Amino acid sequence: DAVDVLLSVDGLSAGYGEMPVLNGVSLEIRRAEIVALVGSNGAGKTTLLRALSRVLACTGTISFMGHNLVPLTPDQVFGAGLVQVPEGRQLFDRMTVEDNLLMGAYRRADKAAITGDLERMYALFPRLGERKRQLAGSMSGGEQQMCAMARGLMAKPQLLMIDEMSLGLAPVVVEQLMEVLARIRDEGVTVLLVEQDIHLALSGADRGYVMETGSIVHGGEAKALIDDPAVRKAYLGL
Ligand code: ATP
Repeated sequence: DAVDVLLSVDGLSAGYGEMPVLNGVSLEIRRAEIVALVGSNGAGKTTLLRALSRVLACTGTISFMGHNLVPLTPDQVFGAGLVQVPEGRQLFDRMTVEDNLLMGAYRRADKAAITGDLERMYALFPRLGERKRQLAGSMSGGEQQMCAMARGLMAKPQLLMIDEMSLGLAPVVVEQLMEVLARIRDEGVTVLLVEQDIHLALSGADRGYVMETGSIVHGGEAKALIDDPAVRKAYLGL
């Protein structure tokens, strides 16, 4: 159903200097779904996120809620509701958890709603509520990932793109984070989950795309991808 398409990418190419990395990537993300973008190390996943966020030059089409993102600046893209949670969290280490969350809302003027949204984040991530006065840099890896995700949500995104959410985290923590993603999806936030851990990402997603050397090589319902013999053989070691 075309009205449900939130992001539509067509023929997107990008690279670094003379080196091409993305070769005509096309994909579609619909409202209130979790989409996994998976592929091995160096496939170009982070490069695709950088092109979508408009920090990297690209050719092709990026249509987000009917608007062309290609001519926009990164700040304008953020303002349009396409928000990235970067690989490695990139928190403000010397600021408190709460001040990090407030940084996510820096473009918003609705003070009362911001205060309400802080409380929503503490309900979603109780650990952050317990530690809101703690410096972000002194938190555990899992807590820092929660803080980075909550900071992104404080921007009130239409689409939250999360790069390597699970990296370096214990399985029990990753499981909690996946549950949070399902909750925010059910509340209407669309999620693009970029992961090297293909099984993990497809297990928690509605749909998925598999990327290899700068191109999408498989796409579809996440369950169908996990069951696809070609995907199982090439990526899941089965
Ligand atoms: P990973 O999960 O390891 O980050 P990835 O799928 O996200 O992998 P990218 O980080 O997008 O892959 O990298 C794709 C290719 O682009 C790699 O060959 C990488 O070496 C190259 N690359 C990434 N960043 C730069 C850069 N700043 N300058 C030059 N080449 C780069």
